[in-house]
Amino acid sequence: MKSRLLILGPPAGGKGTHAERLAAELGVPHIATGDMLRKEVSEGSDLGVQAKAAMDGGELVSDELVVAMLVERLEREDASEGWIIDGFPRDLEQAQVLNAELGGRGVDLVIALEVERADIIERIVGRRVCPRGHVYHLTHNPPETPGVCDIDGEALVQRDDDTEEVIVHRIEVYHDESGALLDFYDSKGVLRKVDASGPPDDTYARIHAMVNSS
Ligand code: AMP
Repeated sequence: MKSRLLILGPPAGGKGTHAERLAAELGVPHIATGDMLRKEVSEGSDLGVQAKAAMDGGELVSDELVVAMLVERLEREDASEGWIIDGFPRDLEQAQVLNAELGGRGVDLVIALEVERADIIERIVGRRVCPRGHVYHLTHNPPETPGVCDIDGEALVQRDDDTEEVIVHRIEVYHDESGALLDFYDSKGVLRKVDASGPPDDTYARIHAMVNSS
């Protein structure tokens, strides 16, 4: 069974949702650089203060900050048997850094989620999150009580970078950077593309079958 996985895809492609479910099933940690950065921002740490402007503008946070944060996370005990990384790498340079950090074995499998641009925008505009990272959609996955997280009762908010203006830029950043990134993993024979445009359960079934068969 593969246990060192990456999940790549456009903003609101479903990376977090599927990575969390798969990580629970495989018994490995779900490591999401976006979630880790948002936590730093909400705690007002030095790293959070430095990362906030780039995040709010839909730009990538500097490699120096993100790589150090990720490397420290991968060194923790719970990551020794494997992991699913969501949101890293974002570009070829980060992929090369990760490869060098991991040494010989590298990653076992890279799942690349594919979603049409119109669907991405619709998903982001309706996305609401709780401060602990649980994710809802106003029409496709509403909470039982409007505006309140089903799991922890916290108030749901829109992410600062989920405005229409910033979305367009985040999609551009993804398209500019993802080609070289996907080619890098394709050349290593570990890339698998997944149609992620339909209902989440259908996409997850495809991911699940792929992980079990590879
Ligand atoms: P995400 O939650 O993956 O959509 O990430 C939200 C934001 O966090 C991105 O738009 C970036 O500003 C920042 N971010 C997350 N992961 C990375 C990364 N690997 N490199 C640089 N910036 C990142």
